[in-house]
Amino acid sequence: MFVSARATILHADLDAFYASVEQRDDPWLRGKPVVVGGGVVLAASYEAKAYGIKTPMPGRAARALCPHVISMPPRMNAYSRASKEVFAIFDRVSPVVEGVSIDEAFLDVSGLRRISGEPADIAARLRATVMAEVGLPITVGVARTKFLAKVASGVAKPDGLLVVPPDRELEFLHPLPVERLWGVGKVTAATLHAHGLRSVADIAKESESDLVSLLGRATGRHLHALATGHDPRPVHRQRRRSMGAQHALGRGAHSIESVDATLQLLVDKVAGRMRRAHRIGRTVVLRLRFADYTRVTRSHTLGVPTTRTDILSGTARALLESTRPLVADRGLTLIGVAVTNLDGEGIEQLELPFDQPVPAHDPAASEIPTTHRPIDRHALDTVLDDVHDRFGAGALTSATLLGRDHRQGVPMLPD
Ligand SMILES: [Mg+2]
Repeated sequence: MFVSARATILHADLDAFYASVEQRDDPWLRGKPVVVGGGVVLAASYEAKAYGIKTPMPGRAARALCPHVISMPPRMNAYSRASKEVFAIFDRVSPVVEGVSIDEAFLDVSGLRRISGEPADIAARLRATVMAEVGLPITVGVARTKFLAKVASGVAKPDGLLVVPPDRELEFLHPLPVERLWGVGKVTAATLHAHGLRSVADIAKESESDLVSLLGRATGRHLHALATGHDPRPVHRQRRRSMGAQHALGRGAHSIESVDATLQLLVDKVAGRMRRAHRIGRTVVLRLRFADYTRVTRSHTLGVPTTRTDILSGTARALLESTRPLVADRGLTLIGVAVTNLDGEGIEQLELPFDQPVPAHDPAASEIPTTHRPIDRHALDTVLDDVHDRFGAGALTSATLLGRDHRQGVPMLPD
C-alpha cells in the first residue's frame, strides 16, 4: 500500500462533543462546567475537565470534584443531527472520509491540492466551516499517518489545529507520554512505567524483541512501530449512501426565481461531487425547512441511475414545484438536495441509450436548430466540473443563475 510522503491525512475531532452541543444551544451554559449524563458522565465541557472531570466517570465523582457542575440530560437527537451536519461537511471537503465515531473522522486530502490547496489550509477552512455552519468547535490534526494525525489532534485540543511535518515526526512524538500511543491503556501503561518507560522516546529506544517479551507479540510490535513513526494504514473510504448539499435562506420572502437559482446551484454541486467520486444515483430528495421550523421531505426515484445535472435538476425542480403552496404559506428558511440510492462505479453505460450523441459527420445534424440539437450532456457536465475545480464554483453555472450574484448569500462550500 502506498504511503504518502506528505502530511495529507486529517484527523478531525469535535471537542467535548455532547457538552459543546449543550453550550451551543443554551448560551447560559457557556463558560461553565457542564457535564452530560447523570449517572455516568458521557461528556464534560473543558471548564468541567479543568476540575479533573473525565469520561466515563460516575456523576457522583464529578460532583465531588466540582460541586457546582451543571449536569444536563443527554439529547441524543440533537447530537445525532449535529453529527450528520458535520459529516456532510467532511464529505464536501474530501471524497475519502473514514468515520471513527459520532464525532471524529479521518480525511485523506492527498488528491485535492489543485482543487482545494494545501492540507493545512483545507484543515483551517474545515474548522471555520464547522463553526460557521454547525456552531461547534472542532480540532484537526494533520500528518502523514493516521496515528500521527490522531495524536496531533489530541495534543492540539481544544479548538486547535496542528500540522506535523514529515521531517519533524519523531521530534513531535518522542517527548509525549506513552499514554498517547494507540492501544496503551491503564494496564499497558502500568507495565511500561514499571520498566521505567514513560515517554514515547523511551519506547523507541527499546528493541522490538524486548518490547515483545515485555508486552506480548501483538502489542510489542504495534508499539515499536508507532514509536518509530510507522503506521501504514490507509484511510478507508466509506461508500456514502447519499450525497447532498443544503443552503439556509434568510427569513422573509424569497422570490420563486431566487429559490430556483439556489436549487440549481445545489444540484450542480451535488452532481459534480457525484461525478468526481464516480457515483451515480437514482433517488432525488428535496428537503425544505420553514419559518415555523416544520420540515418537509419529497423524493422521486428515477428509472435509471444518473449523474447528469439536467436530469437531477429537472427532478429536483418538479419536487419543488409540488411544494409551492407550502413554500408560499410557511416561508422557506432552508433548502437541501440529496441524491440517494447510490451505486458504484462503471455502470455509466446504462445512460447511453438515452444520450444519442450527434454523429460527427451526420449532414442532418447541421439542420437541427442549435437549441434542439441533442448534446452530450455527460461530456458537458464533465467540462463544467473541470472549470469549477479550476476557477471556483462561481465561474460557470447554468443559465438560471446568470445575472444573480450567487457568491453572496451562499455559504462557503470548500469542495
Ligand atoms: Mg471528540
